[in-house]
Amino acid sequence: MNFHVMTLFPEMILSGMKNSITGRAIDKGLIAVEAINIRDYTTNKHNKVDDYIYGGGAGLLMQAQPVYDCWNALRKKIGKKGPRTVYLTPQGRTFTQKDAHEFALEEDLILLCGHYEGIDERVLEEIVTDNVSIGDYVLTGGELAAMVVCDAVSRLVPGVLHNDVSAETESFEAGLLEYPQYSRPEEWNGKKVPPILLSGDHAKVEAWKHEQALIRTLERRPDLLEKAKLSEKDRKFIKNLLQSKNDSDIL
Ligand code: SAM
Repeated sequence: MNFHVMTLFPEMILSGMKNSITGRAIDKGLIAVEAINIRDYTTNKHNKVDDYIYGGGAGLLMQAQPVYDCWNALRKKIGKKGPRTVYLTPQGRTFTQKDAHEFALEEDLILLCGHYEGIDERVLEEIVTDNVSIGDYVLTGGELAAMVVCDAVSRLVPGVLHNDVSAETESFEAGLLEYPQYSRPEEWNGKKVPPILLSGDHAKVEAWKHEQALIRTLERRPDLLEKAKLSEKDRKFIKNLLQSKNDSDIL
């Protein structure tokens, strides 16, 4: 899987991605991350990439020409007519695990980072296939957002995680949050690991994990339950939880 990040700050991307799990994935050749400096594609003598905004308004805007020429060079190098090109923008759809799975199927993914007030609309219309936001807040630039996408997608590339099964049970994979987890020692600060996890009864442990995932999702992200694939047993379990919560509110 090849990530091609178009940015004014290539060092940010490369230094962010070279560590830990993504760094090892790069070393093993499972993913490749290149950061292309949009400034290298300017045609003016001061290498200026931004200019004033027509119609007034505060700040400066990245101009269409260097962004387009950078993308075009990249497109030719990749050898695809219309490569998947993601513009990181607060105006995009909110990035989810579903998007991460979808992007992980691509061989090449171009990520475009804006800066200043953003990018001239005309070039975005020409090259962008997906407008993606990492949340309802405004960052100074798209680099952190691009790294969020690269990180989330990388860990879905086969071989990147030590144990691919760990990704399958994680939050959002089954539409639920993950159950609480514990490591050694068995008792810490007066708190014990739930005894069922030490029982060695695999079936009971799995049932406990699933129930805990339902409880956690209900407590922290009840909105997810509307879309989650729930069995009849799950629904009954949630109904009972809600019932006992209502009872305790009344008492
Ligand atoms: N003027 C733009 C607006 O109001 O929609 C915001 C521009 S922002 C200051 C500069 C750049 O940061 C954007 O072009 C985008 O690449 C990036 N950015 C800011 N917030 C983001 C977010 N929530 N998700 C993804 N990218 C973001």
